Amino acid sequence: MSMGHFFKCKLLILFAITMLFAKNSYSQNSDSKDAFRKVKPLKESWQSLRFSEIKPEGWLKKQVDDNLKGFVGHLDSLVPDLILKDDIYGKDRLSKHVKSKDVGAITDDASAQSQFLWWNSETQSNWRDGYIRNAILAGNSNHLRKAKEYVDRILSTQDKDGYLGIYDKELRYTFDNENGELWSKTTLLRGLLAWYGYTRDKRVLTSIEAATKDVLVHYPINKSHPFYAIKPDVGGITHGLMFTDILEGLYRITHDETYRDYALFLYKDFSNQLLNEDAQQPKQTDTIYNLKGHGAHTYEHLRALTAAYYASGNPMLKDALFNFLHKIDQATTPSGGVIGDEWIADRRADATNAGYEYCSLQEVMDGYLNLLLKSGDPKYGDKAERVFLNAAQGARHPSASCITYLKTDNTYYLTGGKNGDTTQKTQTRYKYSPVHQDAAVCCVPNAGRIAPYYIQNMWMKNEKGFAAMLLGPCEVITKWNDVEVKIREITNYPNNFNIDFEIEVAQPVSFEIMIRKPSWSKSLSVTPSLIEKDNYIVYQKTWKGKSVIRLQLNPDIKVLRDQNNEYYFMYGPLVLAHPIDAIEKVTKDFPLAGFHDLQYSPVSLVIYQYCNEKVFINETNKSDLHFKSIMLNPGNKRKEEISLVPMGTTILRQVTFK
Ligand SMILES: [Zn+2]
Repeated sequence: MSMGHFFKCKLLILFAITMLFAKNSYSQNSDSKDAFRKVKPLKESWQSLRFSEIKPEGWLKKQVDDNLKGFVGHLDSLVPDLILKDDIYGKDRLSKHVKSKDVGAITDDASAQSQFLWWNSETQSNWRDGYIRNAILAGNSNHLRKAKEYVDRILSTQDKDGYLGIYDKELRYTFDNENGELWSKTTLLRGLLAWYGYTRDKRVLTSIEAATKDVLVHYPINKSHPFYAIKPDVGGITHGLMFTDILEGLYRITHDETYRDYALFLYKDFSNQLLNEDAQQPKQTDTIYNLKGHGAHTYEHLRALTAAYYASGNPMLKDALFNFLHKIDQATTPSGGVIGDEWIADRRADATNAGYEYCSLQEVMDGYLNLLLKSGDPKYGDKAERVFLNAAQGARHPSASCITYLKTDNTYYLTGGKNGDTTQKTQTRYKYSPVHQDAAVCCVPNAGRIAPYYIQNMWMKNEKGFAAMLLGPCEVITKWNDVEVKIREITNYPNNFNIDFEIEVAQPVSFEIMIRKPSWSKSLSVTPSLIEKDNYIVYQKTWKGKSVIRLQLNPDIKVLRDQNNEYYFMYGPLVLAHPIDAIEKVTKDFPLAGFHDLQYSPVSLVIYQYCNEKVFINETNKSDLHFKSIMLNPGNKRKEEISLVPMGTTILRQVTFK
């Protein structure tokens, strides 16, 4: 996600130049004033439960525990220079005298330096956000103690005027070019919001509000230009649009419309500046405009546009939002991966030739979760499950603690370059690493955030009751009208499709339980019998003692075509892949035992072709899902039986078949 990626190779600079020429037709047009007029702010359909009220169980709990045992629990020791030795929010705040920073990235571009200055704030704070959330969800006392120490230390860096950030007094809020003012606060305050959700510690909320007020004072609404830059290619400035995450978080806690109004203002100023960014309103109002920008930026900005639409209720922003979603669909591969390696560069999704960045997976999933909460439209639940269960699991190593920075749905090699490409010597991202410092330590922190964000949104509530929005093993402990409510979702979903919902109340109480019906589910059985409404299964009753809802979903194997007309297969929410046997090579050891960079080459590569043969589920091996089919081996022109498994469990694999 870090923006210095922009500048890391000459090819990317070419794209940047293309965008520079493309932008001129999008300078402030006559409609832009109307687009940001506040018409009628919209209410969010659902509310989040308090962070920590939903606890993972089963495989999700294991993933959170593995995170803490692995790269999430140890990132500070794996890259001490970037985290422990740079107190960027404290005594090492940036001043005029700091001209450069060594972040360990391999680059041949000197202009990346302006971004390197703020990079460590993103690395530290995105990592901390994931760390705090994993610690809370795991209920791990050792990590919770460390999280509290961190929060206390950060609060102690806050100036009397509320400033929390990375600049000394001379530099702050005075920029006309690349800077990390809003972005360094966004990443930091997301973690503090999670800690406040868990602890309800008033000091933390006061601190977040003071830091936000400091922004509102120094960048006054409608009278300042936080997104003004003398050059259109910036990174930290435009990441800073995600300060809307903080404003929405505060709005949900305080119901103070000031925060939403300010989110609308930020999106307006961002849209009106000359910037090479996709999510600007005029570009998204234009249905012809194709996505070009840095993927992680483009996909995170989906949340900012959504926030602006809800803050205003303006139909022009609604149009822009739906156009944007359609364009993102065109950039989406079967796994839910959204292309950007690192640029989208006017391309459509391609299962072999366009990679996706781990950062983008977290950002787009969070965008869909935000839309699910706001609109209640269950299709965003399908989209979030698609990304998390397929692309995100499939870019996480199945046994070691490391991830790929970039990956493609069809992965035939993981040797640094894309599918074996060796032409770009600085391309190191297509491999597994617990840090990826040679590119940027952005994806690993985000890989630590994605499971907690998914878990946090598995259940939501409204004025009528609770809804299971994303399916999977978890337990909810909350209250309804002051009565204690415990809901256990007992399942191994998506590895099986039986779900028992155990609902236990301390005394009789009435509320609704709704369960999102996945779009792939044609038939299901449920006891007691159900009412279906808008693709939700609905129970309205007075609950007493313990009750059980027993749901059985019945997926079938679907043969689908991707945007390049290649075939792929799904079973329920799972995309299937043919796993390719690989030779593992350890390319780097870390001083900490058990952490390595790993590369993979195929033992012998056959790229199979679909020949209209059926795909069968292998009933003999029921504990893990396993499938088989007959495909054509174009090398020997023979039809061969091949195995297929959920792509989330694979390293090298073939997902689409010509
Ligand atoms: Zn990244």
